[in-house]
Formats: sequence, structure tokens, C-alpha cells
Amino acid sequence: MSAQHEAGAATTHRVVILGAGYAGLSAAIQLASRVKRGENVRVTLVNAQERFTERLRLHMSATGQRLAELNIPDLLEGTGAHFERGWVTAVDADAKTVRIDDERVLSYDTLVYALGGVADTAAVPGVEDYAYTLNSAQDAEVLADRLSRLGSGTVVVVGSGLTGVESAAEIAERHPELNVVLLGRDEPGAAMNPKARAYLRSALDRLGVTVRSGVEVVKVLPDMVELAGGESVAADAVLWTSGTRMSPLAAAAGLTVDERGRVVTDATLRSVSHPEVYAVGDAAAIRQGYGVMHGTCQGGMPTGVHAAVSIVRELKGKRPKPFRFGYYHTPVSLGRHDAVVQFTHPDDSPRRLYLTGRMAARYKETVTASPWPTWGRMKKMPASGAFWPRGGRFTRVREA
Ligand SMILES: Cc1cc2nc3c(=O)[nH]c(=O)nc-3n(C[C@H](O)[C@H](O)[C@H](O)COP(=O)(O)OP(=O)(O)OC[C@H]3O[C@@H](n4cnc5c(N)ncnc54)[C@H](O)[C@@H]3O)c2cc1C
Repeated sequence: MSAQHEAGAATTHRVVILGAGYAGLSAAIQLASRVKRGENVRVTLVNAQERFTERLRLHMSATGQRLAELNIPDLLEGTGAHFERGWVTAVDADAKTVRIDDERVLSYDTLVYALGGVADTAAVPGVEDYAYTLNSAQDAEVLADRLSRLGSGTVVVVGSGLTGVESAAEIAERHPELNVVLLGRDEPGAAMNPKARAYLRSALDRLGVTVRSGVEVVKVLPDMVELAGGESVAADAVLWTSGTRMSPLAAAAGLTVDERGRVVTDATLRSVSHPEVYAVGDAAAIRQGYGVMHGTCQGGMPTGVHAAVSIVRELKGKRPKPFRFGYYHTPVSLGRHDAVVQFTHPDDSPRRLYLTGRMAARYKETVTASPWPTWGRMKKMPASGAFWPRGGRFTRVREA
């Protein structure tokens, strides 16, 4: 047991937040900023690395672009939250403890589960052995190294979702000497309106990306991928962006999870099986009127803020309020100078309005860089973090 955590445990409410991604950091900064004056609350944020992983820019890391050095303890500075670096290896939901690096144990009164998710490398045989991923900053750097050494050849990007599209475009722009092939079940930009989708497609064509949709990759081999039906596509490097895989920790702890391993929450973001556990970001299955939210930073940060606000309400003896969130945009970069921003209805269906070209690229960059000013403002004025679209009638959950 960590001596630090045992000290004063009888009087101090211990909140442990697992995962310092966009959602976990939002929770930590919001909570610590709200409780720092006087209340007896200790906030501890646990993360595998001390450096913040800018997931939204991992396709840039994968093409050798240097990102800003964002240090988690620096981001927490002034809030009073503690940072604990380490890999969470177990959660004991009965004993209310988490184990870190198999050796340290932290006790909690309230847990915020924010471990995110990664591309599913167990989806088909060969991905674990032969494909590259953007599952961590290190993985992106390994791919960057491979791409920089190839000289010529073919890079196959599997997955025509937004990560696949952004990655294919970025690789094609940075490595014009390589053939880039984008393979996926759906057409790129499938959820956009027809004009925005057509723009996205023409941008991929301009960058020289070969797009094949309606295909199913069934196996990855050292120098090719195999498609359902037996056809193969030669590949000098394969980037796997398809599917999502969650940490097994929540299920192993006995928390109720959905079919994808996400923690199922009630309307206030508490685990339906363990109300002292909040789940936020990609790791949570959060139901809104339009269905279960899908993993995004735009929705993940509000979930972290909401969990923090709810914890403060509970500490004051008040009931936490239901979480409501409506989507408003889907910004997709197409290299460094082009992008499409599809504006959406709160249920994420496309509006007619969309932006393209340099203006869209600037919009996307502003969005990607927005967490730091948001967190900076939140430290001084916690209430400023609680502004996001609630989604009106789209997010009203009707009981069956
Ligand atoms: C290339 C790319 C581009 C994207 N672009 C967009 C975009 O434009 N807009 C958008 O809204 N979303 C985008 N996304 C999705 C977005 O990145 C995620 O939805 C977001 O990161 C989710 O935030 P999170 O805090 O839930 O999880 P994460 O950001 O993944 O953070 C989870 C944290 O937990 C840590 N962790 C995990 N397991 C452990 C463990 N066992 N022990 C200790 N630490 C652990 C991880 O290291 C990480 O720091 C993109 C994703 C990628 C890969």
C-alpha cells in the first residue's frame, strides 16, 4: 500500500483517475481546480507515460513530424492534482484498489476510468506480427522509421475510417515516393454529405492514394495483405487502423462492460455495476438519445469534465446530473494544407454545411490545439470547462 495514500485516508476522499488522455486530464484538471480550496480531496492521475500523447496527431508522428513536448505534471501544475507514472495492471473493485506496475497499490474512494482504446490488432491473423499501428506514440515512431527507410514501395493502410483517411493522406503527402493504398469496408468519409465526401475523395486522388472500398482484409502477411475472396495486395508496410480494442482491466475487475469491453455507464457516467466508478472517454459506453457515443476527443473531454463536476456534487451531498452531449463537427485532415470539416447534427448525422481547403485545414489545426487553452482556462475558471453542446432533443434518453 502506498504510504502516501494511506496517510490521512480516514479523512481525505481519494479520487484516482486512470489514464491521462484527453478525457482523464480533463477530469483531473476540472476536479482538482474545483476542490483545491479547502476541501479534503486528494486527486491522483495515473498514466503509463509522463509525456502527454497527442493522439489526434499520431498520423503526423508516423510521418516523422515532431510534436510539442507536453508533460503531464506540467499540465497539472497549479491544480494540486498528483501524478503517478506507471502501467495499471489490475483494478480490484471490491477492495477499491488499483495496482500499478504489479507492485504499487493505490486505494480509492472514487475511481475515474479513462484508459481509452486502441486499434484492434487481434481482429485478423498477422496484424500483431506484421502490421504497424498508431496505438501509442512509440508505435507511430516505429512506423515513421520504417517509412523513412523504404525509399520506394507500397504502404497499405487498412481501415477507411477517419484515422485511416488522415494517415493515408499524411503518408502520401510526406512520402510522394511511396504508393499508398487505402483499404476498407466503407467508402472514405461514408458518414459525410455527398459533396463533402466527394471533396475528400478528390483530395485523396490528388495525393495519389489508391482507394479500394468494399473490401475485407482477412490476413496480414510479411509482404502482403489477403482479402476475403482470396485476392492479395502487395505491401512493404501495413498500417492497421481498423476496429477498437479496450483494456481488459474493467472486465477483469467485474465492472459491467459492453460487447466491446467499454464500461457501461448510467446517465451520470457512473458504472452501472459499481457506482463509485465513473467511466469517461473512449473507454466508456455512454448512451444518449441517439445511441451509444462513439470515441472522439470532442465528446471525451466533456465526459471527463462532467465526471469531475459530479464527484464534487456527490461530495457536497448532491445528486449528480445526467450527462448530455451533441456532436457538432467531424474535422478530417488531408495532409497539412487541406482538410474537410463536416458540420453535424447532434446525433452526428451530416448537415449540409461543410468546409474544405486551407480554411478547413486551419479549423482542424485550431481544434487539435484547443485542449491546452481549454485546460489553462479551466484551471483559473473551472466553470469555463462545462460549455459544450447538450444536443437538445437528440440527446434526451427516453426510458423504454
Ligand atoms: C490518428 C488519430 C486521429 C484522431 N483524430 C481525431 C479528431 O480529429 N477528432 C476527434 O474527436 N478524435 C480523433 N481521434 C480519436 C481521439 O484521439 C480519441 O477519441 C481520444 O484520444 C480519446 O480520449 P481518451 O482520453 O478516452 O483516451 P486516450 O487519449 O487514448 O488516453 C488514454 C490514456 O490512458 C493510458 N493508458 C491506457 N492503458 C493504460 C494502463 N493500463 N496503464 C496506464 N495508462 C494507460 C494511455 O497511455 C493514454 O495516455 C483520433 C485518433 C487517432 C489515433
